[in-house]
Amino acid sequence: MDNKKLAELLFPDNKLTVEEIEKKYPKRNLTEGAQVTRFAPSPTGFMHLGNFFQAFISATVARMSGGVFYLRNEDTDKKREVAGACSYIMNVLFDYGIMPQEYELKGGEIVGEYGPYYQSERTEIYKAYVKKLVAEGKAFPCFCEKSEGIEEIKQQREKKFATGYVSEHDACRNLSMEQIEQNLKAGKKFAIRLKSNGNPKEKVEFYDILKGTIKMEQNSKDVVILKSDFLPPYHFAHAVDDTLMGTTVVVRGEEWLPSTPAHIEIFEALGFEKMTYLHNPLICIKDGEKKRKVSKRKDKELAMSFYAQEGYPTDAVCEYVMNLVNSGFEIWRNKNPMLPYTEYHFEPLNVTANSPVLDMNKMNDISKDVISKYTAQQCFEYLLSWAKNFSLENVEYLEREREYVTKVLNIDREKPKPRKDIFKWSMFFDLFDYMFGKPGHYEIEEEETDACKEVLSAYEKFLDISSKDEWFAKIKEMAGTLGYATDNAAFKKNPENFKGNVAKVCEFLRVAITGRKNSPDLFEIISLLGKDEVVERLKDFS
Ligand code: GLU
Ligand code: ZN
Repeated sequence: MDNKKLAELLFPDNKLTVEEIEKKYPKRNLTEGAQVTRFAPSPTGFMHLGNFFQAFISATVARMSGGVFYLRNEDTDKKREVAGACSYIMNVLFDYGIMPQEYELKGGEIVGEYGPYYQSERTEIYKAYVKKLVAEGKAFPCFCEKSEGIEEIKQQREKKFATGYVSEHDACRNLSMEQIEQNLKAGKKFAIRLKSNGNPKEKVEFYDILKGTIKMEQNSKDVVILKSDFLPPYHFAHAVDDTLMGTTVVVRGEEWLPSTPAHIEIFEALGFEKMTYLHNPLICIKDGEKKRKVSKRKDKELAMSFYAQEGYPTDAVCEYVMNLVNSGFEIWRNKNPMLPYTEYHFEPLNVTANSPVLDMNKMNDISKDVISKYTAQQCFEYLLSWAKNFSLENVEYLEREREYVTKVLNIDREKPKPRKDIFKWSMFFDLFDYMFGKPGHYEIEEEETDACKEVLSAYEKFLDISSKDEWFAKIKEMAGTLGYATDNAAFKKNPENFKGNVAKVCEFLRVAITGRKNSPDLFEIISLLGKDEVVERLKDFS
């Protein structure tokens, strides 16, 4: 068989040569140790935390080594593409501060010398390499129905890789030139397969940063390298793109591990050097006491849009993800409470090898911590910008009452031990409802209401006090007069001698004013509400 002739027959219009292409993708000029990583999403669904986790690792490995992080849109599955997914991904990366240094905006700006950064714009490149492999006798056309895409692509979707196509069974390997010509004349569609030389009894070796040297069975299937729509499947595009674009570490999900031997065979056929991989574990979720796989349908907290809608600060999400990536982060954070998380340094080797568990309680705790360090002013700006996107009905109020709301946000804040209560902006108005309206109901037992009323009427004399110390001294005095203990030790010893202690008195005041048994500093609340409002609330209760 004249393979060169076959290549021309199959790809008569593809004149671009591999040599010409490689001139356009020179080796990158990198400093010692600098890593080039990428995030390569398929725009077939909306970005979720698992994708973000991976992008985050990839970006961090590049940033810490002084390398390059780039975004490549793997948009070759046109049937499954979701409109707007690519630009959504860019926005997420931008919002969370893990912006790629090289990227392309759809139909617009290209930043970087290694583009196009959309696979759908690289089709001439893939075809040139496929044509070369055919010309070298390493690949052949397959006219089987199966290769038309339907069956095999479905399998690829499910298993992320084509199975069930073993070389010896493929009659197309041995078609004569005449048969091929006849098929082409008859208008039959074809895919291109790589002729496997693999022997499953032998091993192939590759290196994974987390798992070390991996030995697996060689691939022996004639995998498709160009589908009948002339687009490459993932494994071929991976070899060509990561090589030309100068990736040094392929950070990708663990689900790709089983198909790596086939990828290696493609690299070898193309004469490319093997890649270093970092197959990251997949996130699972805590469901009661159990751990299970995440489900896009069930787990609403998987969608990145959830965090934006609920108003989690992006820093908090990044800190949480850093925690998932590397548990050493928490120790570092405790030692360095005020440094930005980006100062934390980890070796790619220390990325967790076990599936990290998405635990919203932990996420919320981290977020409380992050928010507690913001100034009231910062909180206000974040709250307003969240409202502008997700709570329009509150925007007008926030803008008008900027000063008051900032003061409310400042309750128990900007102190050495700030209060840790807010973990997302959407909870603010509920959490502080008593600062924006009178209590709707009171957290008090029926049998305590009379005692509470007694306290309120005694309290009416102290409404004008403006210093916290004086106010509390007066409350204590009042408590003593009413028969409450002002000394906790004495109260503990003989509780029967008192109606309760000062804390009980404060609780009554708090319930009448805020409706709640627990609240931040009551004096700050009273001062912010103002005398008239407090008087009205005391009356309302009585
Ligand atoms: N487009 C592939 C995916 O979304 C990329 C895998 C990779 O990062 O190489 O699963
Ligand atoms: Zn075939």
